[in-house]
Amino acid sequence: MRQRIAVVGGGPGGLTFARVLHRHGHRVAVLERDPAPDARPPGGTLDLHEGLGQLALDKAGLRAEFEALSRPEGQAMRILGTDGTVLRDWRPRPGDRANPEIDRGQLRDLLRGPLDVRWGRGVTRVTPGTPDGVLVRYADGRQEPFDLVVGADGAWSRVRPAVSPATPHYTGVTAVETSLDDVDTRHPQLARLVGDGSMAVYGVNRALVAQRNSGGHVKVYAQFRAPLDRSADLDPADAGLLRSHLLALFDGWADPVLDLLRHGAGFALRPLHVLPVDHTWPHVRGVTLLGDAAHLMPPLGAGANLAMLDGAELAEAVAADPADLDGAVRAFEERMWTRAGRWARVTAAGLERLVSPDPAQALALFDEVQPA
Ligand SMILES: Cc1cc2nc3c(=O)[nH]c(=O)nc-3n(C[C@H](O)[C@H](O)[C@H](O)COP(=O)(O)OP(=O)(O)OC[C@H]3O[C@@H](n4cnc5c(N)ncnc54)[C@H](O)[C@@H]3O)c2cc1C
Repeated sequence: MRQRIAVVGGGPGGLTFARVLHRHGHRVAVLERDPAPDARPPGGTLDLHEGLGQLALDKAGLRAEFEALSRPEGQAMRILGTDGTVLRDWRPRPGDRANPEIDRGQLRDLLRGPLDVRWGRGVTRVTPGTPDGVLVRYADGRQEPFDLVVGADGAWSRVRPAVSPATPHYTGVTAVETSLDDVDTRHPQLARLVGDGSMAVYGVNRALVAQRNSGGHVKVYAQFRAPLDRSADLDPADAGLLRSHLLALFDGWADPVLDLLRHGAGFALRPLHVLPVDHTWPHVRGVTLLGDAAHLMPPLGAGANLAMLDGAELAEAVAADPADLDGAVRAFEERMWTRAGRWARVTAAGLERLVSPDPAQALALFDEVQPA
């Protein structure tokens, strides 16, 4: 008998799950809240690691397409002092494809491919254990039963309450995101400053990171420690005020670095939240979580990778024995929890050192993780 499988959320985790199942000839309903693929800006660039995101793409049969789209040169990383001095200038060797970058929008389109995503399908509640199976309730009040519902709906998951009472808590660090377009022609100096990949500057309890995306687009992340209520007072809609706030916060830093904030267009506020490091739950028949919904952690380059590998592994487990959905989900959960717990500890410690009272910690971390 065909199993009724749904994944809530069409982010990297949900789409990888659906795409790998599709590759194995299984149908899955992808329920996505956004009304259309381009309903909101897709976000910045992601580095996909060998053995994590890249392994997931292998499982989806998308290696060649990824290699055509991704930017190995985007692995370059430069660290400046707050006075603009270049402290580290790391570039990948020719042929190094350990962590190439890809725009999030390109990755979404690559994964989406032939999938029939149900756009505008916001899920409000999931109820397991009914006589019909697991009931999914939509924002318009309608309900639909499934045999397996996978919550891949991110940080503020509406599926999570069906299995776990955990909710994300604030890390103490807020990121404000802005961006610059067409940097090579409009801001050639800034284009050189950022280089082919990322540039970071670390100060006392604050950091500024700029990342090149494709097409001359640069995303800038100003990160700082602040109480949640104070960062909530910042209004991203008032760009002038927010810009002056940031320039005051980063006062004294080198002018070319501050130009990234002066020329940034549009701001988004992202107080960084995380789930408890060892988040697990008593197994619930017919419902599970993956990606940020299961293990939200600081954005240190692992979250999308883990979400994708979760999705690919769960899909493979389901495809291997569709008659034993519950067994497949149980085995997947054990494996995901172990891996996610390890990464949650690494990224939590990493955030403490990158946005730290002692900026030397950030440089030391870079030297520990970056191959010479
Ligand atoms: C600034 C920043 C930079 C980052 N950089 C990196 C990086 O370089 N590398 C990396 O690996 N990770 C990075 N991350 C982390 C990464 O973005 C996340 O871990 C990843 O997107 C998680 O994928 P996901 O599929 O689990 O969830 P999401 O990407 O959050 O996708 C969830 C999807 O579910 C949908 N949804 C939400 N609620 C509902 C609902 N109720 N009903 C239906 N649909 C719903 C959403 O619209 C969305 O499409 C970064 C994060 C941030 C904030």
